Amino acid sequence: MKKYAVIGNPIQHSLSPLIHQNFAQQLDIELSYDALNIICDNKEDLKEQLIQLCLQGYQGLSVTVPYKTWAFEIIQEKNGLSERAYQTGAVNTVSFVSSEKWLGDNTDGVGLIRDLKKNLHWTLENRNILLLGAGGAVRGVLPSLIAEFPASVDIVNRDGNKAKLLATKFNSAKCLIRGLNYIDLKKQYDIVINATSASLQQKLPSTIEGLTAKNTCFYDMVYIDFDKHSLTPFLKWAISNGAQASSNGIGMLLEQAAEAFFLWHQKMPDVSAAIANLTKT
Ligand code: NDP
Repeated sequence: MKKYAVIGNPIQHSLSPLIHQNFAQQLDIELSYDALNIICDNKEDLKEQLIQLCLQGYQGLSVTVPYKTWAFEIIQEKNGLSERAYQTGAVNTVSFVSSEKWLGDNTDGVGLIRDLKKNLHWTLENRNILLLGAGGAVRGVLPSLIAEFPASVDIVNRDGNKAKLLATKFNSAKCLIRGLNYIDLKKQYDIVINATSASLQQKLPSTIEGLTAKNTCFYDMVYIDFDKHSLTPFLKWAISNGAQASSNGIGMLLEQAAEAFFLWHQKMPDVSAAIANLTKT
């Protein structure tokens, strides 16, 4: 039987095993998918763990917090990065082709874009987008977002320097990108994406001070369970302030997993069917 796993720390609440098992059932593929709590202090530790997992017969790994950047560096040494991984500087999907050949990809960006466009039917082209946060999640989705030709992307973070660094790194002729530590109160944002971890602490991002919600769509990357309608503090705030539309991040999680599944099995699962099925569990 083919063996896969998600690695991270902490990992016990990961929904990935249920998602990959659901996809596998849909497509009649027999596999095991574990959640492995891995504790590494540095890149070399992680590399050793990956070697062991490859030797144990794992054929692919999902990589989550806090190991995406180290995974990138390890796979870079092996010349196995995809263009998407290279652009983001982070790897969330590893394929062990052999003990020597390892491939690394990043499916977070495509996961977000598919959820926004295919599932939610939100238009990105020519829109003014506000991204709250400047951590790994923003870094992972920025190239995919920019590729959709929005009119502008403002990255707003408590630590404005991190936002400015990202705006500089991903500077593009496709749209205007700014890194700020405040919201531009004069601007009408069409889409606001919360990519902070504030919702995990049941808090509103401190950076929404002054934001208005009317005529704006709100997306929170955080998810609570498999329910697309579960509300984070950010979404509750958006709805009570008159948001045009809103969504949590469960669709992104499923879409990025579907893309990883496709990389490993060359078969694309039906995400809508998975959401319907998993919501019942
Ligand atoms: P990081 O730890 O790398 O970054 C956290 C970010 O949140 C930082 O920019 C930090 O600001 C900001 N932040 C934290 N608390 C607050 C607050 N109270 N007010 C304002 N800003 C705050 O995390 P990631 O970028 O990796 O992940 C962010 C979120 O996205 C996580 O909650 C994660 O669950 C979710 N996510 C969801 C995915 C999905 O598939 N749905 C995929 C990837 C991530 P500062 O720099 O100033 O400290």
